[in-house]
Amino acid sequence: MQGMQHKYKETVLFFPSQGQTCHSYCTFCFRWAQFVGDKELKFASHEAKNLHEYLSQNTGVTDLLITGGDPMVMKTKNLEEYLQPLAEDPRLEHVQTIRIGTKSLTFWPQRFVSDKDSDDLIRLLERLVKSGKHVALMAHYNHWHEMQTEIARKAINRVQETGTIIRSQGPVLAHINDHEDIWAQTWTTQVKLGIIPYYMFVERDTGARCYFEIPLVKAYEIYRKALMQVSGLGRTVRGPSMSSEPGKIEVQGVSNINGEKVFVLRFIQGRNPDWVQKPFFAKYDENAKWLNDLTPAFGEQKFFFEDEFSAMKESISLKTV
Ligand code: SF4
Repeated sequence: MQGMQHKYKETVLFFPSQGQTCHSYCTFCFRWAQFVGDKELKFASHEAKNLHEYLSQNTGVTDLLITGGDPMVMKTKNLEEYLQPLAEDPRLEHVQTIRIGTKSLTFWPQRFVSDKDSDDLIRLLERLVKSGKHVALMAHYNHWHEMQTEIARKAINRVQETGTIIRSQGPVLAHINDHEDIWAQTWTTQVKLGIIPYYMFVERDTGARCYFEIPLVKAYEIYRKALMQVSGLGRTVRGPSMSSEPGKIEVQGVSNINGEKVFVLRFIQGRNPDWVQKPFFAKYDENAKWLNDLTPAFGEQKFFFEDEFSAMKESISLKTV
């Protein structure tokens, strides 16, 4: 359906049409195609009704992720149209978690503090939480500096007072945060502020990535060395993870097996839930920056999921035709 992606068995992504822009554009963003008006890539849905209808018919969906652009550019009354029914309609009771992906806590913290409809937004979050939903703000952070201003702290407080949980995620980027000390301080600051470190991403293989991408092995070393510096509460973060087409693939480490140097990988999320948590191996390559750069280890021709994933893609394109 237009504006919707039923990405994993239990998770639906929704791209509200009014949220297809951002408070500011990140130069490293993979969603540029949407902003520059490539119709094929632009996800947009004009109808909240479609969303609710789809969810009511798919009772296996427990998680809804509202994303964009940045859905927090929307006025509260638009956001309400999408979200309020989740608190009221018994047909949507199975949707337990509402996630909102946003960078507004850093780019426009005023959204939660001093915009005309900030108070309405806070009350909307409160109502959703009181209705029994788990509401999570999936906050995009690139650096601990983004949490230092008074307004940023105030926004975090106001969101948290509603019972909404803030989880942090962001890519590791050359020239911005490609050092373990930056990540360690970011996660430590977040734990102190009651934010849960959630994901460290690998810069995606689309968009203006050349300036920002780093080799997977470097991303892994940054993750490992940063984790060593933080307490157990900061080690909730997963990564470095590639949000690739077949699913979220984490680089778990570099190992030596039967004399072959390999990357150890696993699916954190997969198009087929059965792929999750099974370790698999790729030949070590110090220059590899994304899944496409990797080849299977031990002389295998393909990774274990490749045939099944190709068949899935084919069946989707046939259905679309
Ligand atoms: S990374 Fe997020 S906030 Fe930045 S341009 Fe992309 S969608 Fe917008």
